[in-house]
Amino acid sequence: MELKRCVRCGKFYAAEVDVCKDCEKKDVADLSKLKGFFADNYINGVSKSEISAYTGISAKNLNRYLGYEEFSGIYIPEGNEEKGILKGKISL
Ligand SMILES: [Zn+2]
Repeated sequence: MELKRCVRCGKFYAAEVDVCKDCEKKDVADLSKLKGFFADNYINGVSKSEISAYTGISAKNLNRYLGYEEFSGIYIPEGNEEKGILKGKISL
């Protein structure tokens, strides 16, 4: 099996996934936070930086998750600017 480099911590490992065993748990936790965010607070056009600020997920990881099939129906503008549309709806 080909060695892959973990996209989170850079460690080498052998598996057909994006991250190593250690980071897999962190990914699972982040993904459940992200799903919870969309379930509770989804607002069309919310920016990545706002999602990142609210969930604590890094921009790099967030970009990776948003490429997943399960989030393909969600529209996130490419711009990273704070739009402030979450203000008033939830307190950061
Ligand atoms: Zn890792």
